[in-house]
Amino acid sequence: MMTSSTFRGPSDLHLHSERSDGTQPPAEVMRAAYEHGIRTAALTDHDTTEGWVEAGAAATSLGMTFLPGMEMSARYGGRSVHVLAYLPDPDDAPLRGELSRIRSSRLDRAHTMAERIARDYDLTWQDILAHTREGATVGRPHIADALVAKGHVHDRGEAFAGILNPRGDYYVALYAPDPVTAVRLVAGAGGVPIVAHPAGRAGVLPGRVLQGMLDAGLAGFELGHRENRADGVRMLRGLVAERDLIVTGSSDYHGAGKPNLPGEHTTTDAMVQRIIDRGTGTAPVYA
Ligand code: AMP
Ligand code: FE
Ligand code: FE
Ligand code: ZN
Repeated sequence: MMTSSTFRGPSDLHLHSERSDGTQPPAEVMRAAYEHGIRTAALTDHDTTEGWVEAGAAATSLGMTFLPGMEMSARYGGRSVHVLAYLPDPDDAPLRGELSRIRSSRLDRAHTMAERIARDYDLTWQDILAHTREGATVGRPHIADALVAKGHVHDRGEAFAGILNPRGDYYVALYAPDPVTAVRLVAGAGGVPIVAHPAGRAGVLPGRVLQGMLDAGLAGFELGHRENRADGVRMLRGLVAERDLIVTGSSDYHGAGKPNLPGEHTTTDAMVQRIIDRGTGTAPVYA
């Protein structure tokens, strides 16, 4: 087959499959992106690179370019911070080690949350497993799906607003590294670290934390995302201009798990090229 090292847009660089908390296999995620007009796509499952091979094959069979990616969990002052990683080396030992630590903490945490919820609701660990693909990065969305199936809530959104809320009785935090460490690990693996939805409801991270992340190799910000707030985006645009950082826009598609649709935000060709030029851990997969 002829291959080339060019890509074309539109590009959506933040998509989830059932290898984490999306609801479709990686190949179906790529097809969904294609059907929404996307021609360059990244799979960014939480804390895992497991879906890359399947997604890459599906994307290229559709004539798309595939960017291997991941969304790494981090924590700062009790809030969760997500660091997108493009083109990291999936075999890099420090990164792999930290991802496996996060995933195993996620499993323990889901168990504990399930026990707490079971005190008040009919819900077993088996119910949760029934909604979690084997080997997937487990999260609250899988518990939400089990709660929906049991009829306790109508959808994931209702579960997150109530039973799974961090301020509720059932919530347990997961282990995740601080954001500077996460950025350092991604950059150390040749990846391009970009803060996901950096201006969400919790607000923009403090300036000194952002500075620490930039010093550790942070490449930019996902400014196009439905959860971002205008004031935070305005502030970050200033930083981006000052430091000539990378800016992305993406859907954060989770299949049926969220209303987000592929292509609702996209990344410009110039910015995709900068990510490709900067990432050294693994290569994009061209059709
Ligand atoms: P966790 O990392 O296990 O604490 O769960 C957070 C994940 O749940 C995020 O990756 C989101 O994709 C998902 N999520 C958060 N809020 C909602 C919501 N209201 N509806 C559906 N999914 C959500
Ligand atoms: Fe998610
Ligand atoms: Fe996220
Ligand atoms: Zn995401």
